[in-house]
Amino acid sequence: MGETVVVDGMTLANDLRERMTREVAAITASGRRAPCLAVVLVGDDPASASYIKGKRRACARIGFESVEHNLAGDASQADLLALVDKLNRDAGVDGILVQLPLPKQIDPNAIAAAIDPDKDVDGVGPLNAGRLVLGLPGLFACTPLGILEILALHHVPLAGAHAVVIGRSMIVGKPISLLLQQRNATVTMCHSKTRELAALCRMADVLVAAVGSPRMVKRDWIKPGAAVIDVGVSVVDGKTIGDVDFEAAQGVAGLVTPPRGGVGPMTITMLLHNTLRAYRTRTGA
Ligand code: NAP
Repeated sequence: MGETVVVDGMTLANDLRERMTREVAAITASGRRAPCLAVVLVGDDPASASYIKGKRRACARIGFESVEHNLAGDASQADLLALVDKLNRDAGVDGILVQLPLPKQIDPNAIAAAIDPDKDVDGVGPLNAGRLVLGLPGLFACTPLGILEILALHHVPLAGAHAVVIGRSMIVGKPISLLLQQRNATVTMCHSKTRELAALCRMADVLVAAVGSPRMVKRDWIKPGAAVIDVGVSVVDGKTIGDVDFEAAQGVAGLVTPPRGGVGPMTITMLLHNTLRAYRTRTGA
């Protein structure tokens, strides 16, 4: 059996956050204000509230400001658009994050389109999606950026590699497919209608699973030595389970992210990274 590297996303994330902490300290020491992320929560979904709390805590730890806006669960789309407009015009706000999912009376695409593209730190708006497709610089979704960091920090070669991505969502599957292709991987995008999924996965030098189906990727779906990035999060009997059978991947994958402490910490880190970038672009700092 070959040896499988288990990605320590927490350590990688902490290293990047330490670097950003130093950058923010230098900015504030020069008399400038700190970067500021505005987070918006509509309704009182406990999972969303806890995600928001985690993001604000991460901001505070590296010296960012953050502000939270809460709207009632029965708020209208016009109410949320008015708040987004106010945050767009607030010169002290660098990044705007509207926590998903939104209540059914609000169209998430309409909200994403209303966020100032230069404050769209979650990379959800159409302008940043267009920039991504065109290969232009922009603010892109945080989970795909975190995956690229993991692959880069582990020196996984991408040029000419066959990358198979399972899932085609706008927050993970599509952007990571485009970003991998920009790095000269040959990308196969899979989804719920894909035939021969296992056989395609077996061809992957880099396999990204972003479905939300616990342990769907079996040992014999993995090419020996492949880099396996597990984005999926499912809670089964109170335990967090990924899309990849993590135990079964040992000894066959060259590298694998664990269901906890893998991709997740890097996602929040890239939100901080995008906010710092947005701040620098907007203020020239
Ligand atoms: P999503 O919008 O529900 O998309 C899931 C994708 O999986 C869809 O494209 C769907 O195909 C595809 N799919 C569903 N069943 C499949 C099957 N049997 N075979 C192949 N493809 C299948 O989900 P998402 O927002 O991208 O999130 C995916 C997972 O990642 C979730 O578990 C989510 O919680 C997790 N996640 C984790 C992080 C993190 O930081 N760790 C961040 C974001 C998301 P169709 O398009 O054909 O429906």
